[in-house]
Order: sequence, then structure tokens, then C-alpha cells
Amino acid sequence: MTSIDKDFPVLVTGATGYVAGWIVKKLLEAGITVHAAVRNPNNKSKIAHLQKIADDTQTPIKFFTSDLLQEGSYTEAMQGCQLVYHTASPFTSNYKDAQKELIDPAVKGTANVLNQASQTPSVRRVVLTSSCAAIYSDNIDVAAAPNAVLTETVWNTTSNLQHNAYSYSKTLAEQEAWRIAKTQNQWDLVVVNPSFVLGPMLNPNETTSESFTLLKQMGDGTMRMGVPNLGMGVVDVRDLADVHFQAGFRPEASGRNISSGHNSSFLEMATILKKNFGKTHKISDKALPKWLLMLVGPWVNKSLTRQYIRNNVNIVWKADNSKSIRELGAHYRPLAETMVDSFQVLIDHKIL
Ligand code: NAP
Repeated sequence: MTSIDKDFPVLVTGATGYVAGWIVKKLLEAGITVHAAVRNPNNKSKIAHLQKIADDTQTPIKFFTSDLLQEGSYTEAMQGCQLVYHTASPFTSNYKDAQKELIDPAVKGTANVLNQASQTPSVRRVVLTSSCAAIYSDNIDVAAAPNAVLTETVWNTTSNLQHNAYSYSKTLAEQEAWRIAKTQNQWDLVVVNPSFVLGPMLNPNETTSESFTLLKQMGDGTMRMGVPNLGMGVVDVRDLADVHFQAGFRPEASGRNISSGHNSSFLEMATILKKNFGKTHKISDKALPKWLLMLVGPWVNKSLTRQYIRNNVNIVWKADNSKSIRELGAHYRPLAETMVDSFQVLIDHKIL
């Protein structure tokens, strides 16, 4: 049981990020001072939206220069914080060297932030944004899970540097977090494991997240021939921010927490978009045959390798989100609302 005092500032790492932006918003709206750790506070186009929320809510936000790979660069940002949200970690399929661009920032970065927590006497709790990617690698792993449902007891054992390297980075990073947490008793670790995150971007013109890339590809004609019938979970970024908030402030929050609103699929998401935006955008709600995907997949997205397609397409995805509802009071809005709101943001910003 850990009580966090709302009068203390809260650190959010990777505050420029898609998910982190909504966590920062939630904190500022609750009147909680935010220490925002970012790579470059001088890049105004990446932080102006956060400053505006702070101005609107009349709650202080302070920016700090921090890099996951630079030891000691979170020292100043963490001073005086009881609660640390560690969200920074690269989420992209656009990389050349998986070790350098995904694994190192995820794992060394987690060690950097959590070791700093142990050296900062005020810290009582760290909330780590892990992922369902640390629970499973491919949809065939879902079928192999107890009762064919992913739960917090399951770990990803099948990713590696060559196959689903991002999932590998999240698995190794979460394992490192639990290892470090067990070496001390000053702070407790609460982990949030989101499925695929969608919902409005607060700063769409600067968003790097793979969530943005895939949503854009559904509307920009890249997938006009059809979409993969790929089972996946989806959570709305606004609901996920609420889950993070509760994970930080509920004294009894603990362990891993799957945060996923819907057991869905790429096809279901595309069908909703087609119904709502099909008159103005080239959206397909047809499933591409697996053989065709094998041919074109790698051209569309680096992650769509033949092994990935074999292990994931036409296979159901299912996770149990009941712990997040029971212990963190999670509410998950309808999938259609998430899809429509996120797509509309891309239209409003002339990205689509
Ligand atoms: P995002 O918008 O790309 O955010 C990633 C953040 O990490 C950015 O703020 C980025 O900073 C920061 N970062 C990357 N490398 C860094 C480094 N070397 N030093 C310091 N900061 C660095 O992606 P996101 O979707 O919001 O992801 C946020 C977290 O949620 C990640 O931990 C991700 O694994 C997790 N997650 C995301 C999803 C999803 O579907 N989106 C699902 C499950 C879990 P810059 O702005 O400076 O690049």
C-alpha cells in the first residue's frame, strides 16, 4: 500500500509522446505539478501543446532535458517527486539496427530511470508503461496461453532481435524493471500493459508513434486493396491515461495490469472507418488473402514479414482486462468512438 501525495510534483518521462501527452493532461487537470522529461525542451513544436494545457489549467509544468541513454540525465527531473511515470521508449517499425534503436533505449533507459528512483529519496512509486507486447509476441502465442486468453501471468518468450524486435524490447525492459524493483524497498512498481493504442493525438503533426503510422496508412490509400485480418487488442489513449492515473494514485495498485478495451482486429477497425469515412477516403474493409499479404506485406510495413503474417493473420486475439477494471476502475469506451475520434483528428490537421 503506497500513498502518493498530490501536492508533490510527478515526473513523466517521454512527455512529448502520444500516450504520455494524455497522462500529462490528466495530471495537470487534476492540479498536479508535472515534471516533463523530454529530449529537447527547446523544440517548441514538440512541447507547445503541453505548455498550453498547463496554461489553461493554471498548473505548473517544468521541462527537463533527459535522454534514456544518458546516465544521470533524470536526476534533476526526479528531484522532489514521489511518483514517476516511465513511458519513454521507442515505438516504431522504422529502424535499421534493432539493438541500438529499440532494445538499448528500452532496457538501458528503464535501468537508468529506475536506478535514479532508488537514488532519489522522495520516490515512493514508479509506474512503468510496458505493453501487451511483453505478454505475447504473435497471435499463435494467444492460442497457446491458458484457456487461449492472455492474462498478467503470461510472458512473451518468443520474440528476438530478428522477429518482433519491438516486442522483444518491451519484454526485456519490463523484466529489467521487475529485477531492479526487487533490489530495494523504497518504492513499489506498478506496470501497465496496454494493447494497441488508438484515439486522438494531442500533437498530431509531431507524432512518431506506430499507432499514428498505422492509422494513417488505413486512410492514405496504402491499404486501399485490403487490410490484413489481424487479430489485435485496442485501447483508447484517453482510457489508458485514466488507467495510468489510477495506477499512480491508488494505494492498492500493484503488479502487471493489462489495459485493453476490445478484443478486436485490423479488419474490424477498417470496417468502422469505412462506414464513417468511406465516402471521402480510400478505405478498404476487405481482408487481403494471406498469400497476397505474403507478397506485399513487407513493402507496406517492415514489421509485416512472412513469419509475422504466418503467425498472426486470421488468428484471434484475446486478453483478459478484468484486473484493470476491478483494481484500477478502468472504463473502456466503444471502439467506434475511438476510431472515429482518431481519424477525425488526422482529417482536421490535413494529415489525411
Ligand atoms: P511515441 O509517441 O513515439 O512516444 C515515445 C516517447 O519516447 C517519445 O516521447 C520519445 O521522445 C521518447 N523517446 C524515445 N527514445 C528516447 C530516448 N533515447 N531518450 C528519451 N526519450 C526517448 O510512442 P507512444 O505510442 O506514445 O509510446 C509510449 C509508450 O507506450 C512506450 O513505452 C510504448 O512502448 C508504450 N506502448 C505504446 C502502445 C501503442 O500502441 N502506442 C502500446 C503499448 C505500449 P521524442 O519525442 O524526443 O522522440
